[in-house]
Amino acid sequence: MYKINENYLKLPGSYLFSTIGKKVREYSEANPDREIIRLGIGDVTQPIAPAIIQAMHKAVDEMGVQESFRGYAPDLGYEFLRNAISECDYKARGCEIAADEIFVSDGAKCDSGNIQEIFSVDNKIAVCDPVYPVYVDTNVMAGRTGTYNPDTGMWSDVIYMPCTMENGFSPDLPAETPDIIYLCFPNNPTGSTITKDRLQEWVDYANQSGAVIIYDAAYEAYIAEDDVPHSIYECEGARTCAIELKSFSKNAGFTGVRLGYTVIPKELKCGDVSLHALWARRHGTKYNGAPYIVQRAGEAVYSAEGKKQLKAQVAYYMNNAKVIYEGLKSAGYTVSGGVNAPYIWLKTPEKMTSWEFFDFLLERANVVGTPGSGFGPSGEGYFRLTAFGTYENTAKAIERIKAL
Ligand code: PLP
Repeated sequence: MYKINENYLKLPGSYLFSTIGKKVREYSEANPDREIIRLGIGDVTQPIAPAIIQAMHKAVDEMGVQESFRGYAPDLGYEFLRNAISECDYKARGCEIAADEIFVSDGAKCDSGNIQEIFSVDNKIAVCDPVYPVYVDTNVMAGRTGTYNPDTGMWSDVIYMPCTMENGFSPDLPAETPDIIYLCFPNNPTGSTITKDRLQEWVDYANQSGAVIIYDAAYEAYIAEDDVPHSIYECEGARTCAIELKSFSKNAGFTGVRLGYTVIPKELKCGDVSLHALWARRHGTKYNGAPYIVQRAGEAVYSAEGKKQLKAQVAYYMNNAKVIYEGLKSAGYTVSGGVNAPYIWLKTPEKMTSWEFFDFLLERANVVGTPGSGFGPSGEGYFRLTAFGTYENTAKAIERIKAL
């Protein structure tokens, strides 16, 4: 008789977005005349930029011609894309990342979920609290997290690093030494960032303690301030302790197109074993590459025209962030994020729980956001709004909240 992977049964169930959906549906059915504005889920709303669409059309046409047809893509991704990434995302910022240290994929969710496979099940992970849930849940599936305590919302074998107003939403070095450290900056859900000096401390800590950092830079394009690093490889010594994950979802609107990449420097070794070699083996065995058409679309992200159009798109969302941030502040809310990230993180008023505030906002302003407690115990008492809506809806939502 076969057996299932029982670790899956330990997962407490992802109630966050399904509960939000259910509550919104029920409210809509009971109040069909109300117009609900959704500033909850982190999906983009603006169409793909013209330079990218043009590149995709061209690639589609190439696929219909014998001479330019392409079958399976190279395991690690096409050179044209990996060269563009290496030049524009790294060398242009003074980071020495070679094209062959870049693994093209279909997005950062898969990579952030799959990367734990190359590590022993005995490793102890450390995560920020609140956190993007994929890091924890995929380690639960692998059997690395111990037992779940429904009262605290915590796993016995996970090191939680609280990120609250008190520490500026930037985690302190943990008291217990972890093996694998997940960091994400600019952060989802808090919208906070880390300075280069502070990230350097993490890199030094990882090198000294023999830990590896998995650095999720999915929101890098939203960085506006000078002292915020765009890549962990801006820090000295990161090549021996850090893996970096990137996505085209939020900088180029590829949430539906799907493209991302992982960087593993060749110097990153566990004893004599190269993590680059392990991931190359994993990638080659289990993955057959992002589509040629999509990789050409990714290449266009780095063209002069593409860069210009995407700068405007990011500015559009960041204008929404400003509208939310300033609107809430003027209404007396305690707000953070929204300066280098498309997420605004607010303290719920009058000691409401995150879910109480969710209901309050839905019923009184017909605005949907995300309860902070859904991202981890330290998110309780906080609430996330995203800047990914249309400007019109964002402005309308904030006017409604201000009028409460
Ligand atoms: N990493 C973080 C922190 C995210 O918030 C998200 C999406 O919301 C992802 C990764 C997923 O990115 P992708 O669309 O490339 O899978």
